[in-house]
Amino acid sequence: MIKISHLVKRFGNATVLDGIDLDIEQGEIIVVIGPSGTGKSTLLRCLNFLERPDAGRLIIGDLDVDVTRASRAEVLAARRRTAFVFQNYALFANKTALENIAEGLIVVNRWPKAKAHARAREILQRIGLADKADAYPASLSGGQQQRVGIGRAMAAQAEVILFDEPTSSLDPEWVEEVLALMKQLARERQTMLVVTHEMGFARDVADRVVFMDGGRIVEQGPPAQLFNAPRDPRTRDFLRKIL
Ligand code: ADP
Ligand code: MG
Repeated sequence: MIKISHLVKRFGNATVLDGIDLDIEQGEIIVVIGPSGTGKSTLLRCLNFLERPDAGRLIIGDLDVDVTRASRAEVLAARRRTAFVFQNYALFANKTALENIAEGLIVVNRWPKAKAHARAREILQRIGLADKADAYPASLSGGQQQRVGIGRAMAAQAEVILFDEPTSSLDPEWVEEVLALMKQLARERQTMLVVTHEMGFARDVADRVVFMDGGRIVEQGPPAQLFNAPRDPRTRDFLRKIL
């Protein structure tokens, strides 16, 4: 249901994504790991057209685009089909939790405000923050802010939620509640592409772990295989450093 074919992204002379091919089934949970600077964030950002790829083809549900020729309408269509959860939450500081979740529905999906707010209240229930509807981000803990960030992505009802190191900015005490919410989504078979260093999450939740290095997918497989019997020396070297 998502097919990434030969995706290339360059910054100046540097080829940061060097021909990425990746298919994602509906309901699949994929964890992406790899050294810093290897193109993991760029991959997610290209799927959402936060960065414009230099080559490749992207199929997301019923959308099929040659990324170099994507029209404005196709870029917006890709954005509607992919929701992004950022490392630093990226909430609007001057909007409440409820408004942060409703904002995309109003602006992107053109929902009337009342309908968007009703949906945002449902989401707040699901993320365990019904009592924080009127709270501004600054009054929320890091864990609560990231749960709002995830709630905003849930509200979009995208084909896939892209998580870019969603727990890396959190104080350790808030990590578990964010992972628990992600596990809840995984149980509901929300399709997810997750860049994370949380290897416990990857082991427990991922259907597939993808190891990237130097802008390429080096190796991929079920977590038990990739962690216990990595085939490529680069994967082994990386795992030895982080596990
Ligand atoms: P990762 O998320 O795996 O750590 P990134 O995708 O953030 O890696 O970055 C991959 C490479 O691309 C790095 O060398 C980084 O410096 C470079 N890069 C990322 N974004 C930009 C940008 N906007 N302009 C120039 N170089 C960038
Ligand atoms: Mg990154």
